[in-house]
This record gives sequence, C-alpha cells and structure tokens, in this order.
Amino acid sequence: MILKGRGISPGAARGRARVLEPDSTFANAAALPQRHPAPREVERLQSAVSRAVAQLERLRKQLGRFSNKDAALLTAHATMLTDPSLLERITQRIMDQAMSAEAAVAAVVMELHDDFAASDHPVFRDRSADVLDLGRRLIENLNESAPRTATPGAVIVAPEVAPSEFVRFVHQGAVAFVTETCGNKSHTAILARGLGVPFVTGVSAVLERIAEGTEIVLDAGEGTVLVDPSGVETGRAERIIARIAVAPTLQAGQQGAISQDGIHITTLLNISDPIEAAAIGTVGAEGVGLFRTEFLYIDRTTWPTEDECFADYLRVAEALGPDRELNLRLADFGAEKSPPYADIPINRNPSLGIRGIRLLLQRDDILRPQVRAIARVARQRPVTMLMPMIDSLDTLDATIERLLAICGVKERGQLPFRIGTMIEVPAAGLMIEEILDRVDSVAVGLNDLTQYLLAADRDDEMLERYHDALQPPVLRLVKSILDAAQRKNRPVTMCGELAGDPTLAAVLLGLGARRFSVSRTHYPTAVSTIGRLNIAELSSAAGQFLKLGSGAELRRFIAQKFPQIVAGA
Ligand code: PEP
Ligand code: MG
Repeated sequence: MILKGRGISPGAARGRARVLEPDSTFANAAALPQRHPAPREVERLQSAVSRAVAQLERLRKQLGRFSNKDAALLTAHATMLTDPSLLERITQRIMDQAMSAEAAVAAVVMELHDDFAASDHPVFRDRSADVLDLGRRLIENLNESAPRTATPGAVIVAPEVAPSEFVRFVHQGAVAFVTETCGNKSHTAILARGLGVPFVTGVSAVLERIAEGTEIVLDAGEGTVLVDPSGVETGRAERIIARIAVAPTLQAGQQGAISQDGIHITTLLNISDPIEAAAIGTVGAEGVGLFRTEFLYIDRTTWPTEDECFADYLRVAEALGPDRELNLRLADFGAEKSPPYADIPINRNPSLGIRGIRLLLQRDDILRPQVRAIARVARQRPVTMLMPMIDSLDTLDATIERLLAICGVKERGQLPFRIGTMIEVPAAGLMIEEILDRVDSVAVGLNDLTQYLLAADRDDEMLERYHDALQPPVLRLVKSILDAAQRKNRPVTMCGELAGDPTLAAVLLGLGARRFSVSRTHYPTAVSTIGRLNIAELSSAAGQFLKLGSGAELRRFIAQKFPQIVAGA
C-alpha cells in the first residue's frame, strides 16, 4: 500500500512500524515495574496526590469565575483523590504486590472504573469516566510516569507526537515518523529537521491503515510511505532504499554566506542537542545563533543539576571551538515544551501562560543551575545568554536583577556572559528601544512573534496559511527592530524556520537583516538563496515591501520582480 503525506523533515528510511495508540496511559503504567523500595514508591504516590490536588484547586479557582458546575466537579475530583480508602488500596498494592506506584494506580483505577461502569445506578455509571480522569492525572503526576517506548529501527506511527516523545523515541533508535498531524513550525518538526530524522505528516487514519510491526519504507522528500512493500511496490521501495544507502547526511558548506553583490551575511545554526553542534564544521555555519536548551531536559526524570547543565553546554562550546559564536538560551519551558516530571503551573491557555522567563523568575531552583553553568562556560570562552519570552521591561529588569544576584555582581557589565533578549512577544518588539539599552543583542524569534501578532497557532496545521511572517504587521515590526538595533549598534539575529522560505529570507535581507540563524536542514538553502540575491536591489525595494497590503500580494510582487529567488528555490 502507498500512502501519501507531506514531508516536514526530508530523508529516506526503512524500518518496522511502532504504532502508538493515542491514550495508552493505563496500559503503559500497568507495565511499569517497581524501581524503588516500596516505601519510596508510597512517597512518590503521596507527592503525586498533593500535586494533583493543587492542580485541581488551581483549575477550580480559574473555572469558578466562569462555571460553578465545572468548578464543583473539580472539587469532587479532589475529594475523591484524597479519600483515605482509595489511597490505602493503592498503597496496599505497592507494599504487598511489589508494584510501582504507576502500576498500582492503574490497577486500582481500572477496578474502580469497572465497578462504577457496571453499576445499576446511573449516577455511579456517570462517575466511571471521572475515575479514569483522576487516574490519568495521578499517573501524569508521578515523576516517572510510564513512557511510551520504541525499539531501534522503529518507524513511529501515531496520530501526533509531542516534542518530549520525539526526543525520547529518537534516543531509543527510531529512524522515522509518520503522523496524521504536525505543524510545520511546531517544535516536533523543528527537532526532526535539526536531528535529520525523516518525518511524514498529513497521512490520514494511520492507526487503521498501518499495523504494528509492518515493514515501512518512506521517502519524506516526496511524502511517500510504502506500507509492507511487496509486489508492485518492490521496485519503488528498492529505489528509496538505494537513496538511504547513498544519501550524504551533510554536505560541506562554505563559512557563512556572501550575497551576489558581495555582502557577507552571518549565518548561524539553531540547535536543540549537542549532537547538532558536532556537525557545525561540515555544515559551514559561523556559530550557534540559538541553542534551545529545554530539549536537553525533556527526556529525563528530574530537573538537571548545575554540573549536568555545564557538561551539556561545554560539549557544544567544545564542538564550536574558541572562535565560533555561541548564543545559548535559558530553557523555554512551558506550553508544549514541559517535561513530563515538571511540577509547573498548568495554565488555561499554555501559550499565553507561565512559560519561558515567567516560569524561571518564579522558580530559582530551575533558573540558578542554568545561570551558574553558563557562567562557568563563559569563563572559558565568550557566550551570550538569551532570555526566552521577554514580555515587558518589568520582566526584563527583574531577570537582570536575578542574574546579578546569582552571579554575585552589582552591574550588568560585570556579568561573566553577554545577555540577549529573544523578541518573540509583540509587546517586547514595541519596546525595542528601551530593551536595546539594557542588553547586548537581540534575537527575533519569528515563529512566536508571528503566532502572537497574527493570533495564529504555530503548531496547528489548519492555521498554516494564517501563520505568515510575510504579513505587513510582522514585517513592519521586524523593520522597526532592525532599524533601532542599527541605530544603537546592537546585533540582531533573525531566528525561526524562516530560511525554509527563500522569499521571506529575501524580504528580511531587503529590510536590513544581516544575521540569520536557521536549522541544519535549511542551512544549505539559506546560503544558496543569499548567494543568488543582490542586497542593494532588495534594499531599494524595501519601501514597497512594507506598503503592500498582504502576504500574498508581497509574494506575487517578489515572484515578478525577483524571479531568481523563486526559480532557484
Ligand atoms: C521562535 O519563537 O521563533 C524561536 C526561535 O523560538 P522557538 O521556536 O524555540 O519558540
Ligand atoms: Mg519562541
């Protein structure tokens, strides 16, 4: 059978399907063996219960403003959770049957669910879904909740895959992914491109059409998935397999990029894992413009210590050598980038919630080890610390104050590292003059900036046509950032998935961008796009770019006026 989808990370692969049902929480939990002495498992259960109760309380307060009925339901959940007889039943399983806390919760919850569901009384029957909900919440709150796993050579087949799961599966040896949905600018897609893992999405009803263990051969470049290739498909499969064997993973590139009219454009890499930094010499990039450190911590069971952070950061620093630039971002936890063990707030709308720097300001225990580790790296080589999701001067000032306190110095100039702000929240873009007076550099995160400015979720495929950085409000804001940075002589780096779109890269060059940080997969396209462009011509057309009324109009204008951009793409 041949399935067609959309490749969001190119490459060819062959493996056996590992099919993931959307909610296998209970089955996975039930399979988890006891990994600690029984009393420690009981302690884990107790702290998971208190975390779950605190979450319910928070949700109840938030909901109470809108719906008393829903709020009452959450109170009922919290009461059930703290029911001593329930906890006693779970504890007994841990102590007497040597079960893990997760397995004991799963067993007791399933029993309760079955009892409720079989009841003659409709009120009890209605309760059975609540019991499952509670069980799920408890399992999620257990630090080592049962993860879904993959074996080496697996092709992961699932409706969707979260960034944390993606990282785990790749560490376990998964060679490719096939899903129903995945936004092109989502973090899962970014990770796939960075790590060079082929990924096909947009394949409908994967669970119904692909059985566990089936052989899969796929070419994400063309979006083709061959399921159990036999008979007519063997020829095609062999051609794809031949491509896997010869595909050079990376081509040696030149250092940086030079435009057609001889202007040097700084080209850096976005990375999420030290492995990507190891390839930097081959890729030809001039440094790391954005190290998204949060993904280092996503496939673990506890927050990392200072020494662990230091070891990871040092690996990147050593891979870069002393002369290449390193911009290392404090972890942007929150929203879909929360590790499974995270005891952090669950907001009503996570993208607008406590994420990035807002979280770090509340949690010195997560911030301090990172800052101290960066300071240690900075003693060996220059490094810029980037602050994620700065939303106001208040937040920026509070962050700088924390940095001074952690480093034990009085003034910004005494910090061992340089500091830079991510401009991802439109409000920060509008305060650019004041921000530039407080930091050494800025990095424009075009994925989030576009999402927040245009109210278009970057993760949602259905919103891809709305999430368009070529829309005038985005370009006008970017232009004001570039102009302010030039006036104040501060470097500004354009980050995000922009280089996958040569038209956007050309427009940004025309507006004055001279530093780009892109993913490994997009790097060759970025360098060759820049090489085909005449920046003087683009700059003289910049005024027109900004006057056009929509992204589509601008695209047409560029295609007409600068056909070499589209033709060479
Ligand atoms: C961005 O928002 O564009 C960015 C570079 O950061 P991230 O993609 O990690 O959110
Ligand atoms: Mg961002």
